[in-house]
Amino acid sequence: MDFVHDSLRQRIRFGSHRAAENLAAEVAGRSARRVMVIATEGQRATAERITAGIDVALWHSEVVMHVPVEVARRARDAAADAGVDLVVGIGGGSTTGLAKALAMSGSPVAGVPVVAVPTTYAGSEVTTVWGLTDGGTKTTGTDDAVLPAAVVYDAALHTSLPADLSVASGLNALAHCVDAMWGPRVDPVDQVLAGEGIAALAAGLPAVLADPAGLAGRERTLYGAYLAGVAFASAGSGLHHKVCHVLGGMFDLPHAQTHAVVLPHVLALNAPHAPDAAARIARSFGAGTATAGLHELRRRLGAPRALRDLGMPEAGIARAVPAVLAAVPPGNPAPVTEHDVTALLRAAWAGTEPAR
Ligand code: NAD
Repeated sequence: MDFVHDSLRQRIRFGSHRAAENLAAEVAGRSARRVMVIATEGQRATAERITAGIDVALWHSEVVMHVPVEVARRARDAAADAGVDLVVGIGGGSTTGLAKALAMSGSPVAGVPVVAVPTTYAGSEVTTVWGLTDGGTKTTGTDDAVLPAAVVYDAALHTSLPADLSVASGLNALAHCVDAMWGPRVDPVDQVLAGEGIAALAAGLPAVLADPAGLAGRERTLYGAYLAGVAFASAGSGLHHKVCHVLGGMFDLPHAQTHAVVLPHVLALNAPHAPDAAARIARSFGAGTATAGLHELRRRLGAPRALRDLGMPEAGIARAVPAVLAAVPPGNPAPVTEHDVTALLRAAWAGTEPAR
């Protein structure tokens, strides 16, 4: 074995029904005096309950998926004007994304510590990846300054996430695990985390669907989503994330659902060329093969199947092919040709099951 593995510096507090208590402890431990809380209007009541034990200097509710630059600018100006010294983001990946935009190098409050309280399974809270959108073009990059200093995980906050969004978001987490198996910086530690993440998500998501208000499935899924994010942050974006990034940016598709649709197609392409990773994925699913394991889980979950159902136009396939080809990560297990990408996008667009 010969590898380099960076462990990111971050505190995780995990406990159901303990978000308020854990957040208060985190704020007190950091001696923060001017706390900004980011939460959408829809999640305001939840956020008020969670922040009951801390003094909030500034509430901010303007959150837009993929963080448009003007939205980031307004939030940064508000934070600077209020002299904010800690940012709490309560919500999904979009809310966490805005909190990260505040902490990013170049922001007037660059380096401000962020405490994330995630309410979906997106995993952004454990990565150094930021994303900003300008005039319909999304740019992403990495910056150590955006990594939240602490994450407060509370599975009870997830019981309000509708079943279809829970499935899509959970499959977004599963995609982090699968892509981490062959990401450009993958190492054996990432593969262990990703394998355990797949097992947790494969057990947790059906339990969430059977009992959306129950904590057992929610905790297992959230634990899996955390491991998924950590593995992905270390291994880097593989082919799956590149495809979703291109499609999401070009056609303004919903993030988690796009991941849920594309994943089986990328797995089917790469698995035959990465037998060790595929065997590990299969073991984590408790299935004969990686593709069969994912197929069975998606069947049980009634996962979204087709990009056309998400609003992608058929003519978009030809437009996306060159952009995907240009983004294929070095070291992707399968050699990727124009024919492969066209076939992959056509199948994902139409909702055709990949061959297993
Ligand atoms: P989201 O944050 O936009 O949330 C989706 C919807 O669910 C919103 O309407 C939100 O209000 C609602 N919601 C969230 N939690 C809820 C709950 N517990 N109960 C009821 N409703 C709830 O979607 P997302 O998929 O979590 O995040 C997507 C964004 O995150 C994208 O911009 C994506 O690029 C980004 N992301 C970034 C990274 C990274 O590492 N930087 C990783 C994953 C995702």
